[in-house]
Amino acid sequence: MPADARLYAYSAVLMGSPILLKLAEHDEKLAGDVFRLIRQQENLFTVNRAGSQLMAVNAAAGSHPVAVSAPVFALIKRAREVSLLAGSCFNFAIGPLVKRWKIGFQGDSVPPAHELQALLALTDPARVQLDEQQQTVFLPQPGMEIDLGAIAKGYIADVVRDFLHQRGCFCGLINLGGNLQTLDAPAGETAWAIGVQLPFGEPGALIGSVAVSNKSVVTSGVYERYFELNGRLYHHILNPQTGYPLDNELLGVTVISDRSLDGDIFTTLLYGLGVEQSLVFLKDYPQIEAIFVTREQQVVLATQQPFRLLDERWRIIDSTV
Ligand code: ADP
Ligand code: MG
Repeated sequence: MPADARLYAYSAVLMGSPILLKLAEHDEKLAGDVFRLIRQQENLFTVNRAGSQLMAVNAAAGSHPVAVSAPVFALIKRAREVSLLAGSCFNFAIGPLVKRWKIGFQGDSVPPAHELQALLALTDPARVQLDEQQQTVFLPQPGMEIDLGAIAKGYIADVVRDFLHQRGCFCGLINLGGNLQTLDAPAGETAWAIGVQLPFGEPGALIGSVAVSNKSVVTSGVYERYFELNGRLYHHILNPQTGYPLDNELLGVTVISDRSLDGDIFTTLLYGLGVEQSLVFLKDYPQIEAIFVTREQQVVLATQQPFRLLDERWRIIDSTV
């Protein structure tokens, strides 16, 4: 990419993911502040380390409500709403199942069916109680657990974008392990070319790229975190109805939106719906655009942003024409 020659890249590993910041000007101080901000935000939402507000909520399951800060309350509230949408496979109360499978964290076996069944009973999102007045969250049964792993990075990507704007930085890009938020494109360019990964390919191998600026691009794929057993692939996005990984024609979904939080929510929602239902569903959300990558080596475009195919083995199906 010739544009990259005029960019400064800063990287770190945070939240278990590679983080990449690109700026038009060399600014070590700003980059340091951004990484500090991400770490701070992560501390609010992680469920893998003691001390986060979310951990406190989970630890008090079956015991008492826990007061959380305004941003944490707001994100939990949004997560609950989305979890309760009709037909939603997004479920923020899915923690007990995620913890049991441990996919992406050394998990490499299929839990017994009766265990999954028992854990499913602890994942009803409607039972999570939010008190707007007190800003508290209560999990009424021991063992219940909130997991915001599907949306925390999206939320944080938006926080970083706003922070960069506040600091007078309008050209750049932040990539939080697959959650991308773009600002203005580099001088002389009209857009950023954001890669859509080749599933199970070498790192950096792409099916194609989509041209955007001032938009978020979020991808969720079955190839990101998974294990294989007896010829079957078990990945990290679970079907809250069955307790097993979602299984349909999709290998990945990329969502293009203004807010990365929306991108993160919709990748999970659309992944659960599959291509056909997603295309119907998206009619009600004109501000959300998507690219579907299927097992049949199809790239189904539901976006107005220009897409460039880079791997000729894949076939483009444009749902917008
Ligand atoms: P990543 O970008 O880290 O791959 P995703 O945004 O694709 O993450 O979300 C996957 C994560 O979301 C899982 O690791 C788990 O923590 C959580 N999760 C798994 N299944 C669901 C679900 N059905 N609803 C909400 N969150 C889920
Ligand atoms: Mg997500």
